[in-house]
Amino acid sequence: MPHQRLLEFTTGERVPLGTIYCIGRNYADHIREMHAAREEEPVVFLKSPCAYVPDGGTIVPPRMGHVLHHEVEIVAVIGAVIHRVTTEQAQHAIVGYGVGIDATLRDVQQHAKERGLPWEKAKAFATSAPISRIIPSAAIPALEETEVGLMVNGQVRQQAVAKQMIWSVPELVMYLSQWFILEPGDVIFTGTPAGVGPLVPGDRVYAWLGEHVTLHVTVEHPPA
Ligand code: MG
Repeated sequence: MPHQRLLEFTTGERVPLGTIYCIGRNYADHIREMHAAREEEPVVFLKSPCAYVPDGGTIVPPRMGHVLHHEVEIVAVIGAVIHRVTTEQAQHAIVGYGVGIDATLRDVQQHAKERGLPWEKAKAFATSAPISRIIPSAAIPALEETEVGLMVNGQVRQQAVAKQMIWSVPELVMYLSQWFILEPGDVIFTGTPAGVGPLVPGDRVYAWLGEHVTLHVTVEHPPA
């Protein structure tokens, strides 16, 4: 039996982790740094449950990847069953927010992009989704003004405010609900701002969502 994966709220409440949805290309400055195109609709992909790493954990990438990148992202947690809802209904279904790292094997992703192949090996490998503790939505009245950021070994690599997102979090949840049935415990990585860059074994990674919550992870070599 696999162990049960739990999201932990800052209140102490624990909720079983559901599906991990991810959004790509949601900040204009990140689209530019990737030389990517701005899309007319959100780019959506999923991560496997084994991608989840709680605060204090470790990213151990597969040996087949050679260029591991950090992507710091605001993570939203769903608290109700929703399907084909409005943006306002979507807003009400968000029970909390945290900060996460969409760990990406950039060389594997580039190989897939060039061949028109799926991204899962690059994006959904085991330990590719560290997520902080979750703050109840009510404790973040002004998400739009909240900063998200990431440091590696004490150096700031990424820093942005939520209002720089092309699609707001409720808009993303509304959009996802047109395609999927979202359920309590589902999490949504909402896209990364500019500043993505390499991680190597031994790196100490620190991410934050405003003053609300932090996330510490380290990077380790895969076993030989
Ligand atoms: Mg991402």
